[in-house]
Amino acid sequence: MAISYSQALDFVQRFAQAVATDKEYLTELDAAIGDGDHGINMDRGMRAVLPKVDALTEGDVASLFRTVAMTLISTVGGASGPLYGTVFLQLATALKDKPEVQPADWSLALASAVGGVQSRGKAMPEDKTMVDALLPASQALSDQLAAGASFDAALKAAEEAAEAGMKATIPLVARKGRASYLGERSAGHQDPGATSSWLLMKAAREAFAEGS
Ligand code: ADP
Ligand code: MG
Repeated sequence: MAISYSQALDFVQRFAQAVATDKEYLTELDAAIGDGDHGINMDRGMRAVLPKVDALTEGDVASLFRTVAMTLISTVGGASGPLYGTVFLQLATALKDKPEVQPADWSLALASAVGGVQSRGKAMPEDKTMVDALLPASQALSDQLAAGASFDAALKAAEEAAEAGMKATIPLVARKGRASYLGERSAGHQDPGATSSWLLMKAAREAFAEGS
């Protein structure tokens, strides 16, 4: 039931793999409404993360996530480095000193990660950013757990909410980040950061689900 250290490591590695696989796609999405580097940025960061987390001694999930955060912040230029750095830093802070990570701990940690992204980047829902995938995912996770759903079902609901949120960015006009410089012309394109955030929620479901 609880998330183990090796599942947390698997989550990080799966996210790195997903970003590597979809590097071109993320970059194309960013080319349409930004500067065409989101896939390159995220792949550079997560590639740098892999040897760092491999070198850690197995044990503490919070220090694993802290290492991811520090590496992303120091290797990724652009908006996404500090923002994903904040995600992992908030996860680390929320899970500090937890001997084991229960579904409810993960849910609270994710909520605080989204809160961190919002306080750092000042994006509200429908500003066409990664918040549009992360916030509904976090809400779905906590709603499902509160309703008594299994962790597997809640993780799946979070992934689906992130995907729906990502798709819902298509018609939106960007109000934050580089895409906002385009004004109305940003409508009709899916937000790259919301897309990588869906990959993050997918990686979490794959790594943490019991059935995996
Ligand atoms: P840059 O925009 O500096 O080139 P990236 O291309 O790596 O950085 O990342 C762009 C993504 O960052 C956007 O698609 C958006 O989801 C996210 N983003 C940008 N600014 C913000 C913000 N203020 N709050 C939340 N997310 C943001
Ligand atoms: Mg960019």
